[in-house]
Amino acid sequence: MDLMDIKTRDLVKKYNFKFSKSLGQNFLLDDKVLEDIVEGADVNNKDFIIEIGPGVGVLTAKLLQKAKKVTCIELDNDLIPILEQELGEHEKFQLIHNDALKVDFNAIIGDEESVKLVANLPYYVTTPIIIKLLKEGYNFKSLTIMIQKEVAERINAEPNSKEYGSLSVLVQYYCNTKIVRKVSPESFMPRPKVDSIVIRLDRLEGPRVKVKDEKLFFDIVRNGFNMRRKTLWNSAKQLGLSKEKLEEAFNDARIDPKRRAETLTLEEFAALSDSIYKLK
Ligand code: SAM
Repeated sequence: MDLMDIKTRDLVKKYNFKFSKSLGQNFLLDDKVLEDIVEGADVNNKDFIIEIGPGVGVLTAKLLQKAKKVTCIELDNDLIPILEQELGEHEKFQLIHNDALKVDFNAIIGDEESVKLVANLPYYVTTPIIIKLLKEGYNFKSLTIMIQKEVAERINAEPNSKEYGSLSVLVQYYCNTKIVRKVSPESFMPRPKVDSIVIRLDRLEGPRVKVKDEKLFFDIVRNGFNMRRKTLWNSAKQLGLSKEKLEEAFNDARIDPKRRAETLTLEEFAALSDSIYKLK
């Protein structure tokens, strides 16, 4: 089929496709949004694109027009034959029937150099997917993803705001972020209850702050935000250090232990983490 003819409404009708709410299926109808995603991801003919959740392949078709190769990961059994029928003959297209949370992306990426992830993500697994893609150290240049507006706000949040949390620290640790555009519910079939945002996360050459022990850094961040209402002192007690050592660590990092996690910048979390590391 001609890539220009891949249209959500037509394909849903042709295959009598039944949407699954539990798989977060809200397919894009709006051509302009699809084009803005591809443009926002800055796709060119050197790029190897990985798309999570192609649905009936509307975004995939646009990506295939620009990229060197597009590999899609789709979980829904019912979508596999549709995608194979519509896009299977296209030489740049590859389909993997699997759960994106279970995939080893290194096996897909191989020795490709310019790898970009593009996806209209299923909202029920947005956060675990982002965590996996960033923390497992894959060679992605960027992730251009459509996510719920609230999640985008959490990603971009600054200290001392109610949106600031572990996800803000995680994404800002690894990436620069850029909002591509807002997308309203009318652009989807069926319509989601929330507004959406297309955001691009550009992976930094190295993390934004240098830390001696990444696991410890993220443990401190997670403990801190898990106990949002409590002081850092209370959450840091879980790390198993004596009272004296913990006091010394806070002193050394010049951080008041009565502060709460939501007030700390990435640099301050890093300083605290390194001071605790030295005393552990
Ligand atoms: N890309 C299409 C579009 O924009 O119209 C569909 C996007 S829809 C929001 C999310 C897609 O992700 C669906 O096709 C759904 O079946 C698929 N999906 C849901 N959970 C998944 C998972 N764990 N791994 C891979 N794909 C998944």
